[in-house]
Order: sequence, then structure tokens, then C-alpha cells
Amino acid sequence: MPQRPRFPSRLPPLAGSSPVQPDESTPAHAHAWDMRAIPYMGDSVGFSSERYRLSMIEQIRLSGVEDLRVLQAMLKVERHRFVDSALRVQAYEDTSLPIGAGQTISKPNVVARMLSLLLQAPIYLQKGLHQRVLEIGTGCGYQAAILSLLCKEVYSLERIKELHLKAKSNLRPLRLPNLHLLLRDGAQGYETGSPFSGILSAAGAEHLPRIWIDQLDIGGRLVAPVQNQAGRQSLLVIDRTPSGIKEVIMEDVHFVPLKSGIE
Ligand code: SAH
Repeated sequence: MPQRPRFPSRLPPLAGSSPVQPDESTPAHAHAWDMRAIPYMGDSVGFSSERYRLSMIEQIRLSGVEDLRVLQAMLKVERHRFVDSALRVQAYEDTSLPIGAGQTISKPNVVARMLSLLLQAPIYLQKGLHQRVLEIGTGCGYQAAILSLLCKEVYSLERIKELHLKAKSNLRPLRLPNLHLLLRDGAQGYETGSPFSGILSAAGAEHLPRIWIDQLDIGGRLVAPVQNQAGRQSLLVIDRTPSGIKEVIMEDVHFVPLKSGIE
């Protein structure tokens, strides 16, 4: 299992610009908050969701993801903006939530884990940046927004038009010019944008599409849930190295299935 970098156990305040860089000199800013105390979370004037995100970040860190770049980026993106208003009260709990069309927004812990694995790509360790990243499964656009703070260019594919449009409208106010949303079948990858330094799938394939590996740059990393022999899903990390493919099977995960075609 790849080593995760060690970072200070305290979070700096929100950074002003992207991409997010670790900054060990800024003052501490972490608190424990009781999520059960939230009566209602809406768009009411003056509502500040930052403290709920801090609590979420604390939970993520306790679950073992300590990558400060990931934690900082997740602190900046308001998850409650990506779910229906009736579900906003749950937006900062570690749970997946329905986003329409039978799909779900992934658990924050899982998003953090996938992103921290992606940032361990050999090419990232060499160059300190992901140039081009492909996300398969835009869904509501939450993970895509976080990715756009961590990578130079992000291409995110969604096969369901309703969700592609929903993600567009969720993301419009955030003005993320390096995030490109496309209505496409991600099982085919995205040849035009390749090679990618990172590929991340938010949908679990029965068999990993070979084309994803073909579209990886040398030193690039693919992180994807794939069905295992027991019929469950495992998280797979594949590195394309100058001498071939290196594959590591991680923990069991639960993602919606990767399907083909456009709906
Ligand atoms: N990252 C998303 C998670 C969405 S769930 C978020 O933050 O909300 C996974 C998504 O993958 C679903 O929206 C589903 O429609 C999509 N998906 C499944 N198969 C796909 C395919 N072949 N191409 C593109 N998207 C796909």
C-alpha cells in the first residue's frame, strides 16, 4: 500500500486561491462540532456552513486520510450545495445521499480516500501537480469541484443527461474554469483529452475498461472501484510505469455500477 504523506495534525484556515498547497506555517483552525445539534441547514441569509465542514474534515482525518491538500480542498467546497434542499441537514454527515436518476453522491470519507490516492501518483510526486485528470461519473459535481482545486485541468464525464445538467447548474456559481463537464460514456474514456496524469472512476466496473489504462500518461495513476471475485467491489490503484502496469488492490468499497451508453 502506498505511503501517505504525514502532515501536521492541525488545519490552516481556508486558502484564498487554487490549486491548494500545503502550508505548514498558518495558525491552527480545527474544532470538534456536534453534528447532531444542527436543526436545519438552508440557504438562509447569514448561514455559515464552514463549521460543519470543519467537523466533517475532522471525521475524515480520524478515518485516516491526513493529506492536507485534500482536507483543505474539501473544506472549501460546500457539499450542501450539491444535494437537494430536503437533504441538506445531512450534507456534512459521512453518508452517501441520493442525487436523482437513482445515483448517489459519494461519502466524504470515500472521496477523500480516492483523492489522496490520486495525489500519490508517481507523476504527481515528481512534478508536484496533476496536469490533466479524468473523472468518470460527474454525478452532482461535488468531487469534480474538489478535483478542480487540486489539478490543473479536470475533465469529468457523465452518461445521464439529467445529472450532467444538474452538475452544470450546481457548479456554475463556483466559476471553475479548469473544470470541463462532458455528457459522454466514460467507459470509453476520453481520447481527446488524453494522456491523463490521473483517472478516477466514481462508478464500479465489472471489468476494468482497458482503454482507461491506455489513456494514462507514464507515471499516471488510475483509482477505480472494480468488481472482485467475491462479487463485491474493491478499490483498485493502477500505476502506468515506464516498465509496465503496477496494480494494487485496496479495501472493499460500494459504488454505483459503471454502465454504458448515454441516457
Ligand atoms: N463523483 C460523483 C459521484 C456520482 S455517482 C459525485 O460527487 O456526486 C457515479 C456516477 O457515475 C453516476 O452519476 C452515474 O450516472 C455515473 N456513471 C456510471 N457509468 C458511467 C459511464 N459509463 N460514464 C459516465 N458516467 C457514468
